[in-house]
Amino acid sequence: MPDMDTIVSLCKRRGFVFQGSEIYGGIGGFWDYGPLGCELKRNIRDAWWKAVVRARDDVVGVDASIIMHPRVWEASGHVGGFQDPMLDCRACKKRFRADQLCEDQGQKLGKTPDGNGYVLPPGVQCSACGSTDLTEPRAFNLMFESNTGPVKDDASRVYLRPETAQGIFTNFLNVLDTTRVKVPFGIAQIGKAFRNEINPRNYTFRSREFEQMELEFFIKPGTDAQWHEYWVRERMAWYTTIGLPAHRLHQYVYPNEELAHYASACVDVMYDFPFGRQELEGIAARGDFDLSRHAEFSGKKMEYFDPETNEKFVPHVVEPSAGVDRIALAVLCEAYGEEWVPKGDAGAARPAEPGAARPPEGYEARTVMRFTPNVAPIKAAVFPLLKNKPELVERARSLYDELKKVGAVFYDQTGAIGRRYRRQDEAGTPFGLTVDFQTLEDDTVTWRERDSMRQTRIPAAEAAGKLRDAIG
Ligand code: ATP
Repeated sequence: MPDMDTIVSLCKRRGFVFQGSEIYGGIGGFWDYGPLGCELKRNIRDAWWKAVVRARDDVVGVDASIIMHPRVWEASGHVGGFQDPMLDCRACKKRFRADQLCEDQGQKLGKTPDGNGYVLPPGVQCSACGSTDLTEPRAFNLMFESNTGPVKDDASRVYLRPETAQGIFTNFLNVLDTTRVKVPFGIAQIGKAFRNEINPRNYTFRSREFEQMELEFFIKPGTDAQWHEYWVRERMAWYTTIGLPAHRLHQYVYPNEELAHYASACVDVMYDFPFGRQELEGIAARGDFDLSRHAEFSGKKMEYFDPETNEKFVPHVVEPSAGVDRIALAVLCEAYGEEWVPKGDAGAARPAEPGAARPPEGYEARTVMRFTPNVAPIKAAVFPLLKNKPELVERARSLYDELKKVGAVFYDQTGAIGRRYRRQDEAGTPFGLTVDFQTLEDDTVTWRERDSMRQTRIPAAEAAGKLRDAIG
């Protein structure tokens, strides 16, 4: 596994991720995705949507607005309870999330007996200057506030949503009224969420603006455990389809004392990042908490009428909630490889020896991003062998135009062919197609696979179909 500095520098150099507002010195906790990064993220979203919505008969989608009625956040509990403990160092004025500061030093932040305050264990130090002169931890609400309309007062206060889920619950009745869904069924949504994190850190892992992919799966009360297990299985399996191997994926099963009072089960899907094992997704059985709270606050009955049993009930819900940015970061870390390859790609690659200054005689170093074809930002690159031979350029161009209909493809005629392969290896492009002199005779092209570097000749007419099959 590469270290984070390696990933960060590759992401900047190749245009996966940039610092937000970089020309103004950046802004903490906000990131921009460049040409390769935005394709990667789009592919992750598409893979999720395909698996969770399109491939199923029992899930539909919504796309709700980011700013919602402020009562939504009272009902959801976010106005009163969506907070992290914050403290300041009196010596250097740095601000920290108190629970993380304690954890980083092998300690655990305590709670006051009434459960409303925090107790800092003795000996905890400022991680910036080492001082133990720290303020008492106090609660800090993570929601960003704004105002609607021209007057900025309490009545016009609104929040940027800290999760997408509430846009699903508030549309529960609309979906029931306008579709033919029957319990059990789900509503899915992908969209931006905002949290004013006290300490954004670990690159894009903890940001202040991020994207969530959430499903609320509505079920008959009493079937919670079985549906929760089902979704944990489904979601774990999905990660392997985007290139995260099972041995780096783990489940954190919440013990009873860590569960929210309304939840009957919760499992976090964890991935072994270079900075440790961290959460990609939470899958919780939340009972009828959300619908019942909205019923109470809105005065609308959030019920389902079961036509088979003639019963009315408030459905329970299982919620798989994943973060696009965290998954993209995991995919970037997993894909990264450094290898020594025989010059001219003739033969098998060897893993680069860590710390070695240069590869042995006859080998050259390559950085290769081994994205699975379904998430790779660019699916294939098309190269004419030489740029000063109009017949080669023309055929390569027409092949490129044809492959564009299948997915994102790249055309490159600049530089030696080996260097062009290397550039695409680093961008993670799984396939390279070269148009050479033989193409002009029999219309075959070479099809190069990024990982094995194996080249085969195939009829150009088969290229689009082969690419389509590989992307899936
Ligand atoms: P954490 O404990 O890491 O703060 P959480 O348990 O508060 O996360 P949830 O509220 O369960 O997170 O949100 C669901 C998903 O949204 C998370 O699994 C994660 O992938 C994503 N997510 C949450 N907060 C952030 C953030 N600040 N930056 C990027 N992604 C986030």
